Amino acid sequence: MALPNKAISLSSVSSVLPSSVDKLKNPSPRAQMNFGVSRNSSVKAVQSPAVESDTGKWVRQRRPQNVNGDFFVDHTCIDCDTCRWMAPQVFTRVGEMSAVYKQPISSEDRLKALQALLSCPTSSIRTEVPPPDILEAQKTFPVPVDEKKLPGVYHCGYHSEKSYGAASYLIIRPEGNILIDR
Ligand code: SF4
Repeated sequence: MALPNKAISLSSVSSVLPSSVDKLKNPSPRAQMNFGVSRNSSVKAVQSPAVESDTGKWVRQRRPQNVNGDFFVDHTCIDCDTCRWMAPQVFTRVGEMSAVYKQPISSEDRLKALQALLSCPTSSIRTEVPPPDILEAQKTFPVPVDEKKLPGVYHCGYHSEKSYGAASYLIIRPEGNILIDR
């Protein structure tokens, strides 16, 4: 895919693209509280059930609100909504954080769950077993938003905690590509 050659403000196009830009403007108290906390996002590709953190092991453990099964959300979730709009078949909001309410069964739902895992800004989505198909999921980015209604518009994924999980988009155009960054 050709590299984008122009970057514009997300706010100028936020009305036509699904994103959490509104939450950037009006972050919840919990999000504001979490903005100053730096977390390592390099563990996205391979998830393991127990990871140390600077605030204690427990924050990386499974929230009890998750259903049983491989995928789960830990206690570091900042409630940014990313996983819930990327994979609503799997994730929901319970107690001001996300949780898995239904484990993905179909290949389509599993891919969406893995895409959400990769996009979670705090690496709060985890699996009990390292997912063997994580590299295939990585290769699906950027993900087409809607090939019929919005051809050439792609969701870049890999959200940042610094922007409270705001989404970035790539628009492929004959006149020049545009990267809409947060
Ligand atoms: S993407 Fe991560 S931080 Fe955002 S709501 Fe889901 S689990 Fe929480």
